[in-house]
Amino acid sequence: MLQNNILKSSFRILVILIFTLSCSNSEGITNENTDSSIVEKHGQLSIKGTNLVDKNGDVFVLRGMSLFWSQWGGDYYNEETIKWLRDDWKCTVIRVAMGIEGGGYLENSSLEFQKATTVIDACIKLGIYVIIDWHDHHAESHTNEAISFFNNISLKYGNVPNIIYELYNEPLAVSWNDVIKPYAQSVTNAIRTNDLDNIILVGTPNWSQDVEDVINNRINDNNLAYVFHFYSSTHTADLRNKAIKAINAGIPIFVSEWGLSEANGTGNINLAESEIWMNFLEQYNLSWCNWSVINKDESSAALLPTTSTLSGWNESQLSQSGTMIREYLIKENSSLFNQ
Ligand code: MG
Repeated sequence: MLQNNILKSSFRILVILIFTLSCSNSEGITNENTDSSIVEKHGQLSIKGTNLVDKNGDVFVLRGMSLFWSQWGGDYYNEETIKWLRDDWKCTVIRVAMGIEGGGYLENSSLEFQKATTVIDACIKLGIYVIIDWHDHHAESHTNEAISFFNNISLKYGNVPNIIYELYNEPLAVSWNDVIKPYAQSVTNAIRTNDLDNIILVGTPNWSQDVEDVINNRINDNNLAYVFHFYSSTHTADLRNKAIKAINAGIPIFVSEWGLSEANGTGNINLAESEIWMNFLEQYNLSWCNWSVINKDESSAALLPTTSTLSGWNESQLSQSGTMIREYLIKENSSLFNQ
């Protein structure tokens, strides 16, 4: 009888063991089959005509979030936040808005470099794209610093497909031909000594709105797109028409920053106009990042001021802008993660 019980127990343990092993095996196989990341699937990006295309030459649209200025929003410059933005928000790209003035990179270069590379490394690990943005309104006054920074970044990351270089966030009312273009050509040349193929983005006059100034006056580089920004509760058809004019003239455009708020980053949110802008982005296959991941008391901030955690946000912790953008990202990007 006792022997019989021991045999029965041994059999039970064996059954449980086989069941456990078979579960962990099938889980392992499932992971292998679905673990192909966004960057593994789409690889080296490039500019073809007015479009961004993937390694297969197919039109590819990046949609994601911009982080807030690194010197003021640095808490979110970590892998935990980036992973949440990939897994829950379905971001395929993250923009590192590395602040230059105002206590940013010019004063604290090693600290800000460290924050930027933490996010870049996280994006590489998580298999999504990352824009390293020289978040400056006077970059022409910091040309040497920009050249040195992008030389270091392109030496370190030029061999991976994840990285996109953004040389100048938003120039003010300065000349494209005389100020921005010479600056951007110098920084582009520095990057190209290390990295021949990753995409470069360049801001345009008047807070990256005057993209038509680039027509017939482009920077000498094959993999470069021009930056166009808008805030959908201030800007309307007049600004869309500037972008359409540039696109029709063959200028590739990248919306590295846009917000649902007014142009100052806060105020009203005009839902009807936001809808028109979102349709515009899709119609022209424009890649974009939304401004921004921060818990600040302004309407473009994705998180409510009371939200203190770095990830795992539920809907009651998101602002109106954060809620809308998350829904929009999930709607447009989810299929990219399921392919
Ligand atoms: Mg490269």
